[in-house]
Amino acid sequence: MNNFEIKTKIRFGEGSLKSLQDIKNKKVLVITDPFMVKSKAIDKILVNLNNSTYDVFSDIAPDPPIETIVTGIEVFKKVNPDVIIALGGGSAIDAAKVINDFSRQILNDNRVEFIAIPTTSGTGSEVTSFSVITDKQKGIKYPLVSNNLIPDVAILDPELVKTVPDFITADTGMDVLTHAIEAYVSSDANDFSDALAEKSIKLVFEYLVNAYKNGNDSKAREKMHNASCLAGISFNQTSLGINHSIAHALGAKFHIPHGRANAILLPYVIEYNADIKGYTNRDYTLASEKYAEISKLLGFNSATVRAGVKNLVNAIKKLQKELNMPASLKECNVNLDETDNIKDEIAFLAINDGCTKSNPKVSTEKDIIEILNKIK
Ligand code: NAD
Repeated sequence: MNNFEIKTKIRFGEGSLKSLQDIKNKKVLVITDPFMVKSKAIDKILVNLNNSTYDVFSDIAPDPPIETIVTGIEVFKKVNPDVIIALGGGSAIDAAKVINDFSRQILNDNRVEFIAIPTTSGTGSEVTSFSVITDKQKGIKYPLVSNNLIPDVAILDPELVKTVPDFITADTGMDVLTHAIEAYVSSDANDFSDALAEKSIKLVFEYLVNAYKNGNDSKAREKMHNASCLAGISFNQTSLGINHSIAHALGAKFHIPHGRANAILLPYVIEYNADIKGYTNRDYTLASEKYAEISKLLGFNSATVRAGVKNLVNAIKKLQKELNMPASLKECNVNLDETDNIKDEIAFLAINDGCTKSNPKVSTEKDIIEILNKIK
């Protein structure tokens, strides 16, 4: 038996922040990053909290470290909130999820409502049971997975993403695409997760470049925000694959933004999973057939599975060029000698990452090293 469920209530579209006015006579704790305070984006939230009292914890940094989680738990214990609002990109939402869950366990308090308000269109964290926390000392990113982490409510107001700079729009948008594609070929994919991933992929190809070129394009911003959430619901069902496993290790070791690391890897992981060199006309891997289905969905020539896979890979590379993204570690200014020295460690971390289990092809550390050699 299979099961598909969405715990999170989703409010979306322009003006959806107004739904915060439904919070009445509560103690609210807003967890966010310093940019949201400095840029006054937080005011768009606070103005809707007239009927309640609030505190703000705004110390969250990208790739949230364990130390910030510990401080956040102290703040939670002091405030003892009825409602948590996580405002920001994946980092702020992930941090708030763990602060909320750990604090509730410590205080044995299950009545706190958790509202996630994403300000990037990327991680889908507003609807997932995932949270990625970083041990900076050890240089390791830990993906935590628990149903306790799933937000109760997600508010997708495209107004908040209009300020995202173009290069972050590109990074986070490619994160969406990687989520949707990895969900689509995951060993746990099903008809429900496929439907969500397909729509997400179509929206990314249609709207990401417009959102990148013109941040004020309301329609492109709204569609990318929806695409991010759709991909999140999809991969929450299916988990991800080695693209994410390697990106986690690269992000922790070389501080490459998460979406950028995913984007660099994506064409090579597709080629690896599809086994593009190895198959004959009658001997396709299931993953290669699914990549070809994506190609067909996007209107690319997919007369054969091989052509479909190749055209998808080429379209992704073209998209990266249009978004002016680096295509290799060297172009991310990574010291290649350093990469060579820790290749084995990155491969070990990737193979042991929680996302590896659902990759469509069983992978070895040697496979990961081969992929790393290709993205140098
Ligand atoms: P982020 O949250 O780290 O933010 C990146 C930068 O963008 C920050 O400097 C932030 O201040 C800025 N920013 C955010 N919103 C902005 C806005 N509206 N205008 C201007 N600047 C803005 O980036 P992200 O890509 O959203 O999240 C990445 C993190 O999420 C990583 O730690 C990654 O591992 C994790 N992640 C989590 C999941 C999940 O399911 N929980 C999935 C994928 C990735």
